Amino acid sequence: MRDATTCVITPVIDESGFRALGPTIHRASTIVFEDAEAYATRAKRGPDGFSYGLYGTPTTRTLAARITALAGGARSYLVPSGQGGNATALLAVLSHGDHLLLPDTCYPAMRSFAAEDLVRFGIATEYYGPTSIADLKSRLRPETALIWCKSPGSSTLEVQDLPAIAELAQDAGVLVGIDNTWGTCLGLKPIDFGFDIVVEALTKYAAGHSDVLMGAVTLRTEALAEKLRGSLGRLGIGVSPDDCALVLRGMETMPLRMAQSTRGAEALIPLLQASPAVDRVLWPALPGDPGHALWKRDFTAAAGVFSVLLAPGASDRLNAALDRLTTFAIGASWGGTRSLIAPMSVAPFRSVQPWTGEDLVLRISVGVEDVADLQDDILSFLSVLEKD
Ligand SMILES: *Cc1c(COP(=O)(O)O)cnc(C)c1O
Repeated sequence: MRDATTCVITPVIDESGFRALGPTIHRASTIVFEDAEAYATRAKRGPDGFSYGLYGTPTTRTLAARITALAGGARSYLVPSGQGGNATALLAVLSHGDHLLLPDTCYPAMRSFAAEDLVRFGIATEYYGPTSIADLKSRLRPETALIWCKSPGSSTLEVQDLPAIAELAQDAGVLVGIDNTWGTCLGLKPIDFGFDIVVEALTKYAAGHSDVLMGAVTLRTEALAEKLRGSLGRLGIGVSPDDCALVLRGMETMPLRMAQSTRGAEALIPLLQASPAVDRVLWPALPGDPGHALWKRDFTAAAGVFSVLLAPGASDRLNAALDRLTTFAIGASWGGTRSLIAPMSVAPFRSVQPWTGEDLVLRISVGVEDVADLQDDILSFLSVLEKD
C-alpha cells in the first residue's frame, strides 16, 4: 500500500481486553457495508439498524436507550434542542385540518410555532386553561388530534392534572403529549399516566453544564416512534455523537445535581418569602402552592427552578439589585451547575387567562454552588430591592 492510501485507511486495532465505563464516541456520516447486497437492502435495516450517520450511531443510540429506560415507552429520538423536540413531535403527528389544544402556559416558542408555522399547514390551534379539565373538555372538537401539556406551566408553574388529561384524551381518541423539561425523566413519568409523547430539553438538567443543546422525544408506541423516525429523516434532523457523549456524562450526576438544586431552592425561598420586596414565590414543591397536592401525587422530585413575584414598587430597583449579584449569573436557560436569575415577561404569552398586574416574573434556577454563598448573594440582592 502506498503512503497516500495508508493515510486514509483507518488501521484495525485489537480492542480485546479494553473496556471503559464511559461511552465510545462513534463519529460517522458514511457507514460502509460488508457487501453489495447489504448496501442494496440498507433501507430495510429498521430503527435498530445503521445505514447513515444522520439516522444514528452507536453513541446516539446509547443516549436514546438511556432516555427510554428512564422515561418508559417504546423508543426515544434525539433532536438538536428542546424546542426542536416540541416542534418535530407536533409535525410528525399533525395533519392539514387537525385541531391542536395547547395549554395557556405552554413554552412560549410553541405559541409562535403554532401561529407562524402550523397555521400555514392548515392546523388550527386553540388554547385551554391548564388547570381546568372542564375547560379542556369543552374545547374538544371532532377534528382535535392532539392535546399538549406543559406542567408545571412556563414561568407561572401551575400543575396540571396529567392522569385526568390522559384519560380524557384516551376517551376522546386524541393523542396526548407533554413538555416534561421541568419534571425531567427522573421526576415525572408521563408515559405511566398514558401519555403518547414526552419531550424533554436535555439542554437543562440532563446535559447539566450549560454547554450543550439537545432534546429528546419519547413515544409510547412503536407506531408513533416510526412516524417520528420518518419525519426526522425527511427533515434531515440528527444530533452529534460528541454532544451525546456530553449528555451521557452529564446524566451520570443528574440525580445528585438535581437533589442539590432542590436543597438550594429550599434554602433560598424562605429568605425571599420573608422580604417585604417579595409578593409571592411560585414553586409547586412548596406546601401552600396551588399545585402542591398534584405535584406531591404525581412527581417524585422538584427542579430547583422557581419564580418570584415582586411586591409593588420593588421592580424599580431590580436592575440595581441584579447588578449586585456575584454568585448568581444573569441569564436564561437553567438546569446547569451555576445559579441563574432572569426577569421574564408573562403577559404576551397568556390568552385564556390574561396576566394581570406587573408583567415581570423573576425566574431563579439554583445550581450546585455552596448554599451559604447563594444565601449571601440573595440577601444582598434583597437589601437593594428593599431600599426606599
Ligand atoms: C428550555 C426549554 C425548552 C427548550 O429547550 P432548548 O434546548 O433551549 O430549545 C423547552 N421547554 C422547556 C420547558 C424549557 O425549559
